[in-house]
Amino acid sequence: MKLKVLGCGDAFGSEGRFNTCFLLQDDQYNVLVDCGASTLIKLKQHKISPESIDLIVITHFHGDHYGGIPFIVISNKLEYQRSRPLIVVGPEGIKEKVYQLQEALYPGTSHLLEEIGVEFYEYNDTFSEVLAGIEVRGLKVTHAPPSNPHGVQLKIRGKLFGFSGDTEWDDNLIELAESTDLFILECNNLTKDSPGHIGFETVLLKKSLLKTKRLFLTHMGSEMIAQSDLAVERLQENLEVDF
Ligand SMILES: [Zn+2]
Repeated sequence: MKLKVLGCGDAFGSEGRFNTCFLLQDDQYNVLVDCGASTLIKLKQHKISPESIDLIVITHFHGDHYGGIPFIVISNKLEYQRSRPLIVVGPEGIKEKVYQLQEALYPGTSHLLEEIGVEFYEYNDTFSEVLAGIEVRGLKVTHAPPSNPHGVQLKIRGKLFGFSGDTEWDDNLIELAESTDLFILECNNLTKDSPGHIGFETVLLKKSLLKTKRLFLTHMGSEMIAQSDLAVERLQENLEVDF
């Protein structure tokens, strides 16, 4: 399994980083974990066809995490005439939110979601299979409540991947990281937590609770990006990691 970082920025595009989007890729599947507004551009930079995406997993309803779906939809229909299903999995309300977003960004195009055959699933805290060999679950985390924030775990062809989504420290992060082959934790701030986000001081305090084989930080603001020698691995744009 390969992770390709198509975006690991914060909501403000700090230091020119793109919106959150992680591609999990093997010889069978292309899975997007979050699909921020810049996702289609980044797919094209990597010469990855939007038509090749099998599954999109959304952590919460903020534009830098799910705002890219309408662009993926119009590309799939109008550029690629896609006819095979695209699975979209997210928190409760995912289907309604995506339809609203499609209409807001490209009025009169929500029918394309049906024409492409987008299938929606809401995850819960136990695993459910959404594609052959891929199981997903989501646990609530602490972030802007109207965005219905969750961290997610994916069992994907024998590997366990976890992502915090956007959150302050939340004890559900311990379960989200447990036994993962790779876990991505948000860390927006260099020092203290802020409402809805983790600071690096908390990462140092809590890191030993996160029982993962490999930990990466993401969603960093400018101060975090500028700091060197933090002793925890950090994502960067276009990074590729085998796990
Ligand atoms: Zn957010």
